[in-house]
Amino acid sequence: MPGSELISNGWFREENDQWPGQAMSLKVSKVLYDAPTKYQHLTVFETDPKGPWGTVMTLDGCVQLTDFDEFVYHEMLAHTSLCAHPNPERVLIIGGGDGGVMREVLRHDTVKKCELVDIDEAVMEQSKIHFPQISCGFSDPRATVLVGDGAAFVKEAQSNTYDVIIIDTTDPEGPASELFGEAFYHNVLRILKPGGICCNQGESIWLNRDLIEGMRDFIKNKVGFASVKYGMIYIPAYPCGSIGTLMCCKDADADVTKPLRPVEAMSFAKDLKYYTSDMHKAAFVLPRFVEHLNK
Ligand code: SAM
Repeated sequence: MPGSELISNGWFREENDQWPGQAMSLKVSKVLYDAPTKYQHLTVFETDPKGPWGTVMTLDGCVQLTDFDEFVYHEMLAHTSLCAHPNPERVLIIGGGDGGVMREVLRHDTVKKCELVDIDEAVMEQSKIHFPQISCGFSDPRATVLVGDGAAFVKEAQSNTYDVIIIDTTDPEGPASELFGEAFYHNVLRILKPGGICCNQGESIWLNRDLIEGMRDFIKNKVGFASVKYGMIYIPAYPCGSIGTLMCCKDADADVTKPLRPVEAMSFAKDLKYYTSDMHKAAFVLPRFVEHLNK
């Protein structure tokens, strides 16, 4: 499991077999936390104050978030799914233990209850200490934060419970592997209410095309979601500068590629830094070599 050895001579290098032959590097000014948890290796470090990145969290040597660009991914996962839903009241987040997606979900005043289930308590604890501006939603009265395996949680959850489910996981190697599988998505579909929407950490078109194509295929053709669309997210800290999300609708009449309730009519829109209705629509316009993902 990659860990402490990725920091040497004052630099963190994101070397990993998932993206062989390349490694993003960040200059480290101070290591704030560096230890194995029950499930993965967690590191939090401060970067060179002359650069823009601020504090960074890695799990098993993979960058999870940086102060500089965390808003990109968190805003896109939360607002693209919630703004495409007519009235999101019950929201479930699987993973997301840093709290960033929850912070964004709770901006919506339609949301009555937001549950988060992350397998690793240490991620939540360290996020509260080093990223209070990201984990701030944990203390909201509408928030319930649980420690547990997301795959086991959805197996036990009642059918027709959630309006939106957001799967904010680490990569498939490690404790999240089941969360990329067909059996997990069967349960996600079952526990969504009619009209429900789910979206995930959908990996990168540059690095994970086979995985994305395979997931799109089984989510639609085997699990039975009515539609699956891939939305692109441009984010500098993730490998190849991009990540995406597979947005899945339970019913055929929903269209996630356009906001049903434009954020511009919501009071918090001015506080966002990435998500707008135009960015929502643009996310589903794909370059030619992956256009087929949204056909
Ligand atoms: N945005 C990040 C990215 O793109 O890699 C993901 C951030 S979030 C920190 C990922 C979370 O997924 C971690 O806190 C990890 O503990 C959690 N996770 C991994 N496997 C899980 C599982 N089986 N059930 C619940 N949470 C899981």
